[in-house]
Amino acid sequence: MDTSPRPSAPRLTCRRALPERFLIPAVHLFDPQHGVDLAGDLLVEEGVIAALGERVALPTGVDVLDDLAGCSVFPGFVDPHVHLRTPGHEYKEDLASGSLAAAAGGYVAVVAMANTDPVVDCGPVAAWVLDRAETDAVIRVGQVGAISRGLKGEELAEMRELADAGVVAFSDDGRPVSDADLLLHALRYARGTGRALLLHLENSSLSLDGIMHEGRWSARLGLRGIPAACESGPLAHELELVRYVDAEGERLAATRREAEDQAAGGPVAGGPVREDAPDGDPVPGGTALGAARATVPLVHFQHLSAADSVRLVRRAKEEGLPVTAEATPHHLLLTDERLAGFDQNLKVNPPLRSAADRDALVAALAEGTIDCVATDHAPHAPQEKEVPIEDALFGTTGLETAFAALYTGLVLTGGLPLGRLIEAMSAGPCRVLGLAEPRLALGAPADFCVVDLGETWKVSTAGFRGKGRNCAFLGQTLTGRVRLTVVDGARRFARARGEV
Ligand SMILES: [Zn+2]
Repeated sequence: MDTSPRPSAPRLTCRRALPERFLIPAVHLFDPQHGVDLAGDLLVEEGVIAALGERVALPTGVDVLDDLAGCSVFPGFVDPHVHLRTPGHEYKEDLASGSLAAAAGGYVAVVAMANTDPVVDCGPVAAWVLDRAETDAVIRVGQVGAISRGLKGEELAEMRELADAGVVAFSDDGRPVSDADLLLHALRYARGTGRALLLHLENSSLSLDGIMHEGRWSARLGLRGIPAACESGPLAHELELVRYVDAEGERLAATRREAEDQAAGGPVAGGPVREDAPDGDPVPGGTALGAARATVPLVHFQHLSAADSVRLVRRAKEEGLPVTAEATPHHLLLTDERLAGFDQNLKVNPPLRSAADRDALVAALAEGTIDCVATDHAPHAPQEKEVPIEDALFGTTGLETAFAALYTGLVLTGGLPLGRLIEAMSAGPCRVLGLAEPRLALGAPADFCVVDLGETWKVSTAGFRGKGRNCAFLGQTLTGRVRLTVVDGARRFARARGEV
């Protein structure tokens, strides 16, 4: 686990299961991030990978999962951005159904957003959700704490209390943080807790009641558009604040080093003395922050959709600013043209944009400007989606289709190496959030998924484990089927060959 000296560690939790003993023979073991790429067997015992290699001796009394022969084993996927709708909106999804959907997609951990009812903006609510996850969730669930109280963007949420309850990061996702002063304070507080701010970028006064990307297709269809500047505008603004807070941190660190140097050379009359900030106050430049900075970004930009945003993030990274970014499968694969069928499942926020925007996102994912894939899994009830597109709520589900959609749409077409996709779905999000990376290594926790890269299947509502039916990929034929998901050495989800 992460050993950075944070005030409190993030808590990711799920239902305990008895560790199992099983061998998966004749599979492709592929963990590109940690240099594993071989054909062989994998043995799980006592919650860990007990053996892996070209030929693993079979101990007595061990289940042999012959039916998985020929499949690929990957480090388990981690999703930094899902909506599990608990508490308050369990008619859309709950911790049991959402985590099962995640397991069916090969995920071993997901991080839930705070836009629930009540909002997760204080310690007790965060603790309640995580306690529920410990009894209801089949794979690990982490929780994000709100940046502002009630997601209203007016005053800060109880950020230190949320950190102590074990939230993974902070986000007002679903809404932008428009007040610069509030955001500035949030940046300092988040850094004080060793956690990133995950930012939903949207200029609300520009998006208004827009339905889709503003462009040729919105004009043709007569639907109100949401310009790309709605995202890239706030992004440029937020980068200015990141630059300011980053420089402030550097300045304070330099002052501290100076003081330490002088102290090492003996007491200096009138020399600078740094007092520790009182508990609960932001501690920019403090000891814990240096370590935290090394593991998590100051800001992580959520669900990028526009080429202009990609350009800004690329430049910021070249400059060395501590920022990261994510993109969703639907933004990486689909474009605004698809709205011509008025399919409500394609109404998402930010909207599906032009082919040029999508191509920029794919290139950015390939080169690492976009660090990771996030589904923004947003289940809704039929009565919220099966209405005229103007009235339908924004969002698509994504956990059960993410890998297969991206493997089919980007890897099989030659646009993206499989290794980069696995990295962006497993190690990438962990680095953003400062979590331990799942790995295929001797003695590592057995957190992995098994995928049949040869199986082709049609996305249909009949196969969904989650409650939501609103999937942007409904009806598509995809290649790559998750057959098994293992967390802590226990099988949390299994699917027979050809099973829906
Ligand atoms: Zn969002």
